[in-house]
Amino acid sequence: MMQALVVEKPGSAVVRQVPVPRAKKGEIVVQVKRVGICGTDLHIYKGEYLSPYPIIPGHEFSGIVHEVGEGVEGFRLGDRVCADPNLSCGRCRFCMSGRANHCDRWDTIGVTLPGAMAEYVAIPAELALLLPDRLTFAEGAFVEPVACVVHAMNRLRPSVADRALLFGAGAMGQQWVQALARSGVSELTVVDLTEEKLALASEWGATRVVRAEDAEAELQDFTGRNGYDIVVDTTGVPAVIENSFRYLAPCGRYVQFGVTNDQATVDLRTFDLYHYEWTLIGSMALNHTMAPALAWLEAERLRINHLVSRELTLEGAVRFFAGERYPQDMKLQVSFE
Ligand SMILES: [Zn+2]
Ligand SMILES: [Zn+2]
Repeated sequence: MMQALVVEKPGSAVVRQVPVPRAKKGEIVVQVKRVGICGTDLHIYKGEYLSPYPIIPGHEFSGIVHEVGEGVEGFRLGDRVCADPNLSCGRCRFCMSGRANHCDRWDTIGVTLPGAMAEYVAIPAELALLLPDRLTFAEGAFVEPVACVVHAMNRLRPSVADRALLFGAGAMGQQWVQALARSGVSELTVVDLTEEKLALASEWGATRVVRAEDAEAELQDFTGRNGYDIVVDTTGVPAVIENSFRYLAPCGRYVQFGVTNDQATVDLRTFDLYHYEWTLIGSMALNHTMAPALAWLEAERLRINHLVSRELTLEGAVRFFAGERYPQDMKLQVSFE
């Protein structure tokens, strides 16, 4: 048996004993070393996402290969690995046109299948990537979130000297700061509630930071024609999203990266969408972007070590789900190291 965090039903998580998974044909079992907690996990906890219950969450993880199933090549016991949590069939219309994250038979470890908030997790071997020696398990558990940013950058394709406005400077927002700064945007304004997070954004590439409570006044001259070419929401807060459209310049591009609850709506003046020729871009999870994310981390083009603000036990993760949070929280990881 092993310890696992199980969300029994929306609003109820416990740590309990469950059987250790066995590697079926084509699978490996990974002994988990680190697993990140992300906004999606909170939505799963609250019953606002795509999960069946009970579910073991945890889709951002690293560890070592504990068992190798029949027919698996390329992995040996003890290999350090991370993994793309998304299963796709490779044969549906979406898989066959570069949209595997919309696969007809889509499944995700830790969302629809048992995840990594447990001592062991079974995954199809084809989803695993060897973790280079120089990367820590903490970094290994960060490859998946970085891969989501890589996917979003592929969706957005910023142009040189675009002016960008970013809402939210949490763990994902901070990666956006680095990614946008590297992509060659000119201005990069970041809005957040927390002073410390804004200071970090300044340090890593923001050209201007604004406290959320001052945003109305400080950004009043940056609306409509004088707005931003790129506006990105990483907060998932409907009120923030609704207000952010006014900062879009003509031909501006808006990216919905933050996850709202699955019933949220916002008002958008459709005349503005027409008249200003805005582009609205959603970005969901990742799409075969683990390898570039790993390359980014290995080359230290994107750094995440300063973003891991707390290491938790499984019990600590239960307390986090139940509401034990701190304003300075960035990325939290459950550690079995
Ligand atoms: Zn995530
Ligand atoms: Zn498919």
